[in-house]
Amino acid sequence: CGIVGYIGQKQAQDILVNGLKKLEYRGYDSAGVAIDVGGSIVVSKSVGRLKELESKINGTKLLGFRGIGHTRWATHGRPSDENSHPHFDCTEKFVVVHNGIIENYAELREELKALGHEFKSETDTEVISHLIEELYNGNLLETFRMAVARLEGSYACAVMSEDEKDKIIVARKDSPLVVGIGVGENFIASDIPAILEHTRNAYILDDYEIAVLTADSVDIFDRQGKHIKKSVFEVKWDA
Ligand code: GLU
Repeated sequence: CGIVGYIGQKQAQDILVNGLKKLEYRGYDSAGVAIDVGGSIVVSKSVGRLKELESKINGTKLLGFRGIGHTRWATHGRPSDENSHPHFDCTEKFVVVHNGIIENYAELREELKALGHEFKSETDTEVISHLIEELYNGNLLETFRMAVARLEGSYACAVMSEDEKDKIIVARKDSPLVVGIGVGENFIASDIPAILEHTRNAYILDDYEIAVLTADSVDIFDRQGKHIKKSVFEVKWDA
């Protein structure tokens, strides 16, 4: 149960896997990453320990400068490759990782199925990627804000899209999420130890905040979409 993300000039894969290792203490049964490889999002995921994921991706090194990663503690759907995160929508343009529990997932799933969406997993999480696909209006920030407004329960959630290649967007409610602020690169993680080897400057997100990361900027918005000025938290301790 951890989330990491990277956008910048370095290869994302190693940064994501190392970040997930730092979150191992939180416990997990599966792990996965999604990386933007030359403009298309590639997902690699596996039930089991992080070394299972590593042996999967080491052969086919996923080269790319933008990615999100996840360790799962299954709540809805048994631990399996299919139920591991990240989760795509039907078009495989939107990819999502999530920690927490979407309490109204069953009703959202029925609603989305009636609209023609086909689900590949048994997770509560997969409703988020399909909801984004359904609501997408050409603006991922606006769409993500509308999508999370439909969610009940707890979430730390990150999304990437193939259409808006310069960003990662995250939201949280009742699950922790921090944004690590770098120079020409930015990070997300469930907890500070996962970013500490890269930066000591962070935004600690509060409930209902949404952050948009590009390589050079972090912008934070409230649930009405209003831009928020947040103070930078400087980490003074060592991991
Ligand atoms: N509820 C989600 C699932 O079962 C996320 C679990 C987690 O926080 O890792 O897939």
